[in-house]
Amino acid sequence: MFERTPMIAGNWKMNLRPAEAVKLIETISLGTGDVEGVDILVAPPFTHLGIVRQAIGNSGIFLAGQNMHWEASGAYTGEISGRMLQDATCTHVILGHSERRELFKETDEMVNLKVKAASFLGLIPIVCVGETLAQREAGHTFDVLKEQLNQSLENFRLDQRMPTSTILAYEPVWAIGTGLTATPDEAQDVHHFIREWVETVFNSGTATQVRILYGGSVKPGNVSDLMSQPDIDGALVGGASLKGDSFVDIIRFQG
Ligand code: PEP
Repeated sequence: MFERTPMIAGNWKMNLRPAEAVKLIETISLGTGDVEGVDILVAPPFTHLGIVRQAIGNSGIFLAGQNMHWEASGAYTGEISGRMLQDATCTHVILGHSERRELFKETDEMVNLKVKAASFLGLIPIVCVGETLAQREAGHTFDVLKEQLNQSLENFRLDQRMPTSTILAYEPVWAIGTGLTATPDEAQDVHHFIREWVETVFNSGTATQVRILYGGSVKPGNVSDLMSQPDIDGALVGGASLKGDSFVDIIRFQG
């Protein structure tokens, strides 16, 4: 019995044609209809949100955006607002993914503006943090994470409260899409550190309730060991979420 409801989230990134997206949802729904006590979420490309929502029907799969802008509207060519995600029936949004940080130069300050805007709208943020290989090898993992958490969640720190629905995701950059995974013990150490940060900055009630997902080459073969760790509450899955069978197997991890 888990203290917090596990969540398995699929980040589809810039992949799948519409028909493939629909097929994938059908496979997930069929393969998990009898699964209880696990929240399932998918984050398709923006252009597929409508068709994916239709395919989800009443299967209870949560729908998320992969990113958003912090402004409500205006002259921001190529951007999508949180309200637009909500209009497309998203309940969640992934913020600060390492690909956004690295490839699109998103800073903690920008992530913070997005977290603030999403929270204002009642859109649940999935806030990603993680260290690079160089930072890990230099022994800076915890300092880097603390800084990312402090800055990305600055607005919550100022208010002295963080909604307990907020989801944090630890995604070591060196494990994303590389086939390398943090060992369950390595991941647990970091998740425990993050939960302690939440307790120190907010309170123990919030720390007990906030879910912390692990992301980085999660597959059917490693998910159960990761999920057996006390502070790992789920997985944010990239590559393995694009194949129906493997995503279903991940959702059906042995708890
Ligand atoms: C991700 O991009 O969030 C991710 C964890 O990718 P992968 O599972 O492919 O490593």
